[in-house]
Amino acid sequence: DSPSGSTHGDEPTESTDAAEPESALGIARRQLQHAADHLDIDPNIVERLSHPKKVHEVTVPVKRDDGTVEVFTGYRAQHDSVRGPYKGGLRYHPEVTRDECVGLGMWMTWKCAVMDLPFGGAKGGVAVNPKALSAEEKERLTRRFAEEIRGVIGPTVDIPAPDMGTDPQTMAWLMDAYSMQEGETVPGVVTGKPPVVGGSEGRDEAPGRSVAIIAREAIEYYENEIEETTVAIQGYGSVGANAARLLDEWGATVVAVSDVNGGIYDADGLDTHSIPSHDQQPEAVMQHDAPGAVTNAELLELDVDVLIPAALGNVLTAENADDVRAAIIIEGANGPTTSAASQIFAEREIPVIPDILANAGGVTVSYFEWLQDINRRAWSLERVHDELEAEMLTAWKVVKDEFATRDVTWRDAAYIVALSRIAEAHEARGLWP
Ligand code: GLU
Repeated sequence: DSPSGSTHGDEPTESTDAAEPESALGIARRQLQHAADHLDIDPNIVERLSHPKKVHEVTVPVKRDDGTVEVFTGYRAQHDSVRGPYKGGLRYHPEVTRDECVGLGMWMTWKCAVMDLPFGGAKGGVAVNPKALSAEEKERLTRRFAEEIRGVIGPTVDIPAPDMGTDPQTMAWLMDAYSMQEGETVPGVVTGKPPVVGGSEGRDEAPGRSVAIIAREAIEYYENEIEETTVAIQGYGSVGANAARLLDEWGATVVAVSDVNGGIYDADGLDTHSIPSHDQQPEAVMQHDAPGAVTNAELLELDVDVLIPAALGNVLTAENADDVRAAIIIEGANGPTTSAASQIFAEREIPVIPDILANAGGVTVSYFEWLQDINRRAWSLERVHDELEAEMLTAWKVVKDEFATRDVTWRDAAYIVALSRIAEAHEARGLWP
């Protein structure tokens, strides 16, 4: 996308991804401005939306197994709550920063609005390498972090969920720590919990499922047959593995998948079900027998119909965007494409279906989970699948209609849908006091 203040189609005046990676906040702000340029939207509201409502920074001391105490920094960035309680994941990753949480929190606001969920956006996390912690240390970290942010979260205030480096077990600890202090079990304070403590069936696989549904719709939109489609997927965690397996089941040929160590390649299609996902067995992709191997960088440049970056942010950059040969890109990860790369893809007319639509199945089933917690009644997996399918198709249709009627990118189309809804809500509520 072009930088803030410029109009669609301008050359970027600032290239940020050559020297140092562009921050999530930088990308999120540019994307907001870029989309706002296409809309008759009050600039005061755009200005308001380019800042978070509140950012909480906390110190999290943790007793290590050897008895020493290590101190970590945690964040919860609450971006906007005009449409409902703040909603978004918690990350355990060494590179978690205040700005990253703000940028990712902004994306959650748009994501919830594209899906028309009654939530705002937030993101948080702890700057820590979770791989260096034992399970007991991770539990102590989570409980202490929960205690530090207890006053600013809650089932009607701000509802965390899993993200990079956190999982259903992390959410169970968080829910328990919060509930112990409240004096009652409060399942609705977090989503992505194990079903046995109020989690939803199908939540784990939901982001990958939505990526697969959106990929299927995009393949059809561009008049291709899924049975004749080749797919490369970077990342074999919950998003990548579930998307790969569903597309494989629906007839696509998944030729390459990867994890942090690199990828495997088979022109005839990999048996995605026999490759353990990260949750089943961490870093198992390279141990799987396959005719070929690719690096993570090579995977992004494979000659495939559909490319799905489903691991880290900032992997498609000005450096490699010209070498991407895929016909369609579906963003499985949050923020895999830098602003400069988006601009190149727009010029090359390679459609990029954005994260805020493609991986929104996660937060959508989080919403279902929250409803189940409030009603104290679990849904069947079949119901979750059916309702997710319906929500994804509804969102796809509104975004597709914007895309088809305006000369914009898919990302702009999704932002236009989201921003219009958010701006309307801000206008209706007004500024107080
Ligand atoms: N962390 C996920 C995301 O980025 C899910 C957030 C949620 O369910 O609240 O969309």
